[in-house]
This record gives sequence, C-alpha cells and structure tokens, in this order.
Amino acid sequence: MNAQSSASSGFPIAPLFALDTLWFQVAGTLCNLECTHCFISCSPTNHAHEMLTLADVKRHLREAEALGVKEYYFTGGEPFMNHEIFEILEETLCQGPVSVLTNGVLIRADTAARLKRLSDASEYSLDIRISIDGWNAATNDPIRGAGTFERILGGVRALASAGLNPVITVTEACEGAATQDGRTRFFDFLRSIGLPQPRLKIMPLLRIGAEEQRLRAYESWETLKGRELTPDEAGVLQCTGCRMVTSKGVYVCPILIDAPDAKMGETLGETARPFTLSHQACFTCHETGFSCRT
Ligand code: SF4
Ligand code: SF4
Repeated sequence: MNAQSSASSGFPIAPLFALDTLWFQVAGTLCNLECTHCFISCSPTNHAHEMLTLADVKRHLREAEALGVKEYYFTGGEPFMNHEIFEILEETLCQGPVSVLTNGVLIRADTAARLKRLSDASEYSLDIRISIDGWNAATNDPIRGAGTFERILGGVRALASAGLNPVITVTEACEGAATQDGRTRFFDFLRSIGLPQPRLKIMPLLRIGAEEQRLRAYESWETLKGRELTPDEAGVLQCTGCRMVTSKGVYVCPILIDAPDAKMGETLGETARPFTLSHQACFTCHETGFSCRT
C-alpha cells in the first residue's frame, strides 16, 4: 500500500507496511521519577495507563507470533516497578529480541545479574536502555530529579559489572548533546564510567506531556497538514511498522498513548490499518526521522 494523504482531513496517512516491532507499556504511566520533559507525564501517581500483567503480555505475544513480529520493546513508566517484569522478559525472550527502556535507578547488582542470566539463557538478544540527561548532576538532575544522576550511574555500573552493555539515551533537553562535540563528550564520559564500547542514542524532544510546560508546546504551524508522504518517508516512521500494547488497548505507537484517537483496537489484528498523522508529535517524527527503536 502506498503512503497517501487523506482528502478529507488534509493530513498524510501512514499505512502499516508490516508489524515488525511490538511495544508494551509494561509499567503503564507509573514511574518512580517525575522528569520535567516526560512526554507522557509519568509519575508515581499517574494511573492513566496501569501496569500490564504477565497474562496480558502472553496474550499479545501469542497473536504477535502469528503475525510475524520480529522484536519487542518494554517501556513505561519504569518497567522495573512491575513485579512480574522478569517473568515477562523470560517469556518474551523465547520468541524474539527484547529491549527494555528504563531510568536505571532500580537496577542493582542482583537485578543486573538476573538480567545477565536471562540474556545468556536466550538465543535472542536482551538490550537494556538507560536514560540520562547530562554529563553530570548539574545538567541531569534539574530534568530527572535531585540525586538521580548518581542513582542512574549506579544502574549503569551494575549492568557493566554483570557483563551487559546498556544503550544510553539522552534527549536534547541536555543542551549540546546532539552536536558532534556533545556526542564526543558523552562517549568519553561513558568510557570513564566503565563502558569501554559505549552505545549512545540522542533523542529529539517531543513537545507534549510535561515537556509542554518545561520549555514549550508545539507552535500551530508544526503539523503535517497539507503534506504528502512518499513511500520512503513513510517507511522511516515507526508507526508503519509498530504498535503499542497498553492496559487500555492497542495504540498506534509509543508516543501517542495519551491521545484517545490513537487507540486502534483491543487486539493487534484490529490495528492492521492506516493511521492519519494529525498529531503534532508526528511533525517531530517526520522532520527528524526519529524512532523510539534503538
Ligand atoms: S522520562 Fe522516563 S524516567 Fe522520566 S518520568 Fe518519564 S518514564 Fe519516568
Ligand atoms: S507520533 Fe510518530 S510514530 Fe506516532 S503516529 Fe505520529 S508519526 Fe507515527
């Protein structure tokens, strides 16, 4: 199916080319942190989406296998707040490669050792992705919370000691992170904390959720209205190859879980249809080529 635009709305339409990547909002919108740039405003008290259970995940894994899904991502909120997370990861690692997006502060030596055992026992890869927003507490803590820089580093070091090499993600809330100098500085920093072969992903800001209050919301002109997508442009958008499972149903992508119209159904099969890119976050995906995948 070719990419096209909707004659009625004027917004481009993203087809689902193939469901390659399945996301799970495994911790709902519950998080032990309350970052000022969180695009879904997660917090210890945000119950907009609840935790998924092992039974929820198993149900969707069965359908995903039949549909040929190739890889799985777990996010929140903070996935390690979910009491069934290890069982969930073990089950999923029987079926495909897994990535877990975490803030790292709950990862201690025993957690890291357990993750290493899960990784070693699977023929598929287990990637842990840790978010940090600066080279030091002065840059990170105003965004992620007082004392979080050292706690995040604790998680990174625990994983490194266990023999895992986490992917480190940084948003552009960390000024200068996306420049060549910023990347070099980050690589040097990550080597200095025990990651000899650092892996780094820089992410643009999505101006929704808490980020709307921190810096700014989208300007009215920042939309895809009137734009046409070529098939190549559509192919770069993660929503042409992914869906997101939450406690409230299956959503188009990991970004729009607070948008009621981004819920596409209760099962994966119900979501195998195009989605109209009428949200302003779609502007960021299109302009930057950004994907939440590693
Ligand atoms: S950005 Fe991540 S760590 Fe921070 S509040 Fe949101 S989900 Fe939690
Ligand atoms: S926010 Fe990005 S990934 Fe989600 S529907 Fe819009 S373009 Fe697709």
